[in-house]
Amino acid sequence: MYYDDGEQKRKLAAKRAAELKARIEDYLHVRPLIPDGFSQWEKILSRQEKIKEYFRAGDREWYDWHWQVRSRIEDVETLAALLALPPEKVEEIRQVGEVYRWAVSPYFLSLMDPENPDCPIMRQSLPALPELMDSEGTEDPMAEELTSPAPAITHRYPDRLTINVTNQCAMYCRHCQRRRNINKADHITSQSDLQAALDYIREHDEIRDVLLTGGDAFMLSDEQIDWLLTELDRIEHVEIKRLGTRTLATLPMRVTDSLCNVLEKHFPVYVNTQFNHPLEITPEVEQACKKLSRAGVALGNQAVLLAGVNDDAHVMKKLNQYLLKVLIRPYYIFHAKAVKGTAHFRTRVEVGIEIMEKLRGFTSGLAIPTYIINAPGGYGKIPMLPAYLVSMDKDKVRIRTWENRILDYDNHE
Ligand SMILES: *Cc1c(COP(=O)(O)O)cnc(C)c1O
Repeated sequence: MYYDDGEQKRKLAAKRAAELKARIEDYLHVRPLIPDGFSQWEKILSRQEKIKEYFRAGDREWYDWHWQVRSRIEDVETLAALLALPPEKVEEIRQVGEVYRWAVSPYFLSLMDPENPDCPIMRQSLPALPELMDSEGTEDPMAEELTSPAPAITHRYPDRLTINVTNQCAMYCRHCQRRRNINKADHITSQSDLQAALDYIREHDEIRDVLLTGGDAFMLSDEQIDWLLTELDRIEHVEIKRLGTRTLATLPMRVTDSLCNVLEKHFPVYVNTQFNHPLEITPEVEQACKKLSRAGVALGNQAVLLAGVNDDAHVMKKLNQYLLKVLIRPYYIFHAKAVKGTAHFRTRVEVGIEIMEKLRGFTSGLAIPTYIINAPGGYGKIPMLPAYLVSMDKDKVRIRTWENRILDYDNHE
């Protein structure tokens, strides 16, 4: 009997491919139902027209990031004029706004869908009553104020540290871990504090990686960023610079040609941003990311696991896949810390582990960030992983595959 081994193998591989597709059938069904900034772009553009009309602004103002920051919406009257909100919601925002500051850039406002009470953009940016009912959170759970050996510096790891350059942001996230700083008036760290921070780095030759954070590092002017990066480049032991900004999501027009020219001069520069939902990834964001990449900037994302926003494996998978589409590499997912006023965003750790379980194997390794818990007391980031190592002894490791197969693996040199 004629037996074609090649054909048999191809049949088996085809059967396996069908089985693999079945593994993501649920996701393939749900993915188009999760709104993203590309599928919603027409709607977003028409909202932008209305917002521009209200402010009597044209494209010149809209694409001017200074105008966007100056025009941040931070009072309920303007908000109510721009978003058709039910009166109870307006009252709620007024009441909570008296305790906790809020502000939204017109651009980020245009991503909001007032017809959806669960809109993930609104949930992240508009005050809500539960903020006043958080009896458990503390103001500074990471004890940042205790790991600051010099002005504006947080030094928590051996070879790297952060400089807090401003408390300003284009939008004040309701889940902000540094609420204690944003409730004060906007300010930029003083020149003398920045000089003292730079002196500290000069005196510590083990520091090879400096992160500019805030607030939002892109709230500084191009000149200020240029000056800081120039000073850091003059310190021989500083090998890389990182900037933390949420403007890629909340104010993509911040990424101007002039900013890109500055960043390009100071290679190597890493920009870490924060996208929490695929709705935040728009064609406007794509343009900003392309510009930064052309300037030789490496892009990473630090999402926060937020109840009611992205505490769902499908949403998180789409978020990470869409980040890759605009050349942003998912880097971290942070477990939401117990910051006072943010209890309604917190999830159990199991939720994060389950999300990680549903990423590995099911999608590109590039789309898989590390899930992190920040240790209390400022002892650093701790990765949380599903258990793939079942057991280990002298001769064997027992391992688990992404499809839950348990296998024994020889443990020899
Ligand atoms: C998160 C953080 C860093 C950077 O940590 P990586 O894991 O290297 O990204 C550095 N310093 C402080 C204080 C931090 O909180």
